Amino acid sequence: MGLISFTDNGLYCKQGDFYIDPWKPVHRAVTTHAHSDHARWGSKLYLAHKDSYYLLKARLYEDIAIQSVDYGQTISINNVKITLFPAGHIIGSAQVRVEYKGEVWVVSGDYKTEDDLVSVPFEPVKCNTFITESTFGLPIYQWQKQSSIMEDIHLWVQANQAAGRNSILTAYSLGKAQRLIHNLTPYGYKFYVHGAIYAMQEAIARFMKMPAVDYLGADITKEEMKKRIIIIPPSADSAAYLKRMQPFSLGVCSGWMQVRGAQRRRNADAGFALSDHADWQGLLQAINATGAECVYATHGFTAPLARYLREEMGIKADVVKTSFGEDEE
Ligand SMILES: [Zn+2]
Ligand SMILES: [Zn+2]
Repeated sequence: MGLISFTDNGLYCKQGDFYIDPWKPVHRAVTTHAHSDHARWGSKLYLAHKDSYYLLKARLYEDIAIQSVDYGQTISINNVKITLFPAGHIIGSAQVRVEYKGEVWVVSGDYKTEDDLVSVPFEPVKCNTFITESTFGLPIYQWQKQSSIMEDIHLWVQANQAAGRNSILTAYSLGKAQRLIHNLTPYGYKFYVHGAIYAMQEAIARFMKMPAVDYLGADITKEEMKKRIIIIPPSADSAAYLKRMQPFSLGVCSGWMQVRGAQRRRNADAGFALSDHADWQGLLQAINATGAECVYATHGFTAPLARYLREEMGIKADVVKTSFGEDEE
């Protein structure tokens, strides 16, 4: 048995008696980030990055017990050293480094290797064993640079304005939405956002400066609406909800948009392959940089990634089943 084992409650460190992103309530949870498949309700005490502090309060409950730490700050429990490192996935996202008697394991949580200019960029961490996500663990996933995707979105909005249509983007409320707001503001855009996104902006404003956005309420003039970019979560794209914003063009921001047909299946007019997860090359680079002799892939296309690591990179690699899902995509 290694330093971290795979249990019914989640990833467990027996020596330190704590879990990492448990999917059941436990006495002590180390939380990589505030997405719902990693930060679950009901644990007694959470350890998380300081930027996740207000996000966890906003998404779970206000009086949640959280011990918050900075990146690189080490906490010791039963001689097990726990240190968080940036994962570059969303604001406050962290990889968890666990060390005991010279053996080091790192749990990646969700991560991406490109700097999104909103979250602290991913930092590779040396370890013996790396538990990596593999949401987009297939060679077909190869992202364009963020700057060129933002340029594409800008051109799409301009075309919508010229045609007299509103521009509606769907983006996950924590992560993708802030990335769009931060990176499209320099083009001169202002935003109307769905309540779920507005709530996240308010939580983030408690510890970090973000461009101001307006709540997508009733008192909006038709003219002003067309000038803005409207952002809603993917779950809100029902015909009934969208009806009052007609005429509009609907753009979906998700890594899945890279694949042919995905846009049509979502009934979208445009697809932008913008992801908060590493693409295939990003995964390989990140794994390589850890120097790990053993890798466990979880979350997504695990089998193809593990096979590639074994056959092409000579790394001991296996698949491990967890309850992490495609929350933000
Ligand atoms: Zn996530
Ligand atoms: Zn996830």
